[in-house]
Amino acid sequence: MNSRFKTELENNEYRLAGRKTHPDSSVFNIGNAKFGDGFTIIAGPCAVENRAQIISTAHAVKAAGAAILRGGAFKPRTSPYDFQGLREEGLKLLLEAKRETGLPVASEILSIEHIGLFDDIDLLQIGARNMQNYELLKEVGRLGKPVLLKRGWSNTISELLMAAEYLMSGGADRIILCERGIRTFETSMRNTLDLGAVAVLKKYSHLPIIVDPSHAAGNSDYVEPLALAAAAAGADGLMVEVHPDPMCALSDGAQALTPLHFEKLAKQAFAISDLLLGR
Ligand code: PEP
Ligand code: MN
Repeated sequence: MNSRFKTELENNEYRLAGRKTHPDSSVFNIGNAKFGDGFTIIAGPCAVENRAQIISTAHAVKAAGAAILRGGAFKPRTSPYDFQGLREEGLKLLLEAKRETGLPVASEILSIEHIGLFDDIDLLQIGARNMQNYELLKEVGRLGKPVLLKRGWSNTISELLMAAEYLMSGGADRIILCERGIRTFETSMRNTLDLGAVAVLKKYSHLPIIVDPSHAAGNSDYVEPLALAAAAAGADGLMVEVHPDPMCALSDGAQALTPLHFEKLAKQAFAISDLLLGR
């Protein structure tokens, strides 16, 4: 086909993340959590707030079937006046929750300067705001650790895959892609969840793709239907924000699920995935 008529996706070369050179879907472990085979849920609060909050959430999400605990310590807030995270102390509390529950932990890294603080964090999260921070991608890629790469809200699927190439060309091979909603003309939700991205990424890449319905919805009323639709679309898993007391959360409380609501969501999402996988 004349390259003028190729889509942006077809015009780019995904040497490491692409399915052309790696036809089989990637399957890998992060601790006991398996990605790319079955359905895997990452859950926890938007931000680590205090010991009781992170430990109780960790126990609750583990009991509901989550395989990884999330918790932001360095928070990239839109307003500088909002809670910025407990920073180093937040990572320490997250690691305490890891020791208590045995769950591997995920947390967002905002800056190259903080890399040393993340030594014991199992899964480094590159957030939507940093998806095209190429120097950060190169440095994090060099660590060779698992990375959760979130799509920027104004980035194409091709740009997401090129960001994965940055991580992988540096040496990382366990990359999880994450669709978390994009900005459109629609304002009823915080973002518009692009579930089509799951199908497209499955076609073009061998990497596992998970969906974050929490940041897409921005409202706990919509998190469950988006999560279940993601499971039905063939996503490899979810990342869901859960808080023991959403009304009092220091960040993203409007979209946080209670542990009880999360338990229901997880049960249904696993059931949908089992149906699709014939398990
Ligand atoms: C988050 O997961 O805490 C987060 C900030 O998400 P995003 O980068 O998708 O906005
Ligand atoms: Mn959040």
